[in-house]
Amino acid sequence: MAEATKKMQVSDEVAIQISSMNKWYGQFHVLRDINMTVHRGERIVICGPSGSGKSTLIRCINRLEEHQSGRIVVDGTELTNDLKNIDKVRSEVGMVFQHFNLFPHLTILENCTLAPIWVRKTPRKEAEETAMHYLHKVKIPEQAHKYPGQLSGGQQQRVAIARSLCMKPRIMLFDEPTSALDPEMIKEVLDTMIQLAEEGMTMLCVTHEMGFAQAVANRVVFMDQGQIVEQNAPKEFFSNPQSDRTKLFLSQIL
Ligand code: ADP
Ligand code: MG
Repeated sequence: MAEATKKMQVSDEVAIQISSMNKWYGQFHVLRDINMTVHRGERIVICGPSGSGKSTLIRCINRLEEHQSGRIVVDGTELTNDLKNIDKVRSEVGMVFQHFNLFPHLTILENCTLAPIWVRKTPRKEAEETAMHYLHKVKIPEQAHKYPGQLSGGQQQRVAIARSLCMKPRIMLFDEPTSALDPEMIKEVLDTMIQLAEEGMTMLCVTHEMGFAQAVANRVVFMDQGQIVEQNAPKEFFSNPQSDRTKLFLSQIL
C-alpha cells in the first residue's frame, strides 16, 4: 500500500500558495513569514509542539482565521476580504477537526446531506445517493439512520470525513483527526485517510501519527513558535533532521 501511495503522481499545478504570510492575535505574532507551496495531489503532514501555530495555519487556508500580511492563494483564488473569494475557496476545501463537530440531533445521513441540500441546492435524492456513496467509502453505510451519539468516536470521525467529501472538495485539511480517539479507533480513521490519499486527494494533515506521515506524506513540515522551521521528504525528515528544535521534538514523540 505504502509503495503504491508513494508512486502516485503529483501534478505541477499549484493547489495552495502561501507567501510571506503573517498573522497576529492582537499583539501576539502567531504566524511568522510563512512560505509554502502545495501542488495538486501532494500530501503534507504538519507537526510541531502544542501552541506552535499548526491549527492557526490550516484555519487560515479556509479563512476560519484571517491573516494580516502576505498572500494565501487557493486554487488560483486569493483570500482577501472579498466574500465571493472566501465562498469559492470554502467550496473547494474540506476540513476535518479533532472533535468531529457532527450535529447531534441529525442522523448520520442528514449530517451528510445538510450542506449539499441547503448550500449547494442539490436535490435531496441526489444528495442522499452521494452521501451513501461516501458512507460506503468510509465503511459505515449501515449507520446512516443512526444519530452521532450512537456511534463510536472512530465511526463519528469517519462520518465527518464522509460529510466533507459530500461537498466534493479538491483539497482536504485535517487538524489532529485522531487525537481525540481511543487507540483502537485510530487505525480505522487513518485507513480512511490513506485511501483518500491513494485516490489522489490533495491533503494537509496536522498529525503526530508519524507512521501515517511515513506511509503517505510527500513532505513533512515542522513548525515551532509560529515558524516553519524545517520541511523535507519523510525519509530525510525522520532520519536526518536538520535543526535542534526538530531533533528535540522527534526525540519526544518517537
Ligand atoms: P497548535 O495547533 O500548534 O497547538 P494553535 O494554532 O492552536 O497551535 O495556537 C498557536 C498559538 O496561538 C497558541 O499560543 C495559542 O494559545 C494562540 N491562540 C490560538 N487561538 C487563539 C485565539 N483565538 N486568540 C488568541 N490566541 C490564540
Ligand atoms: Mg492545534
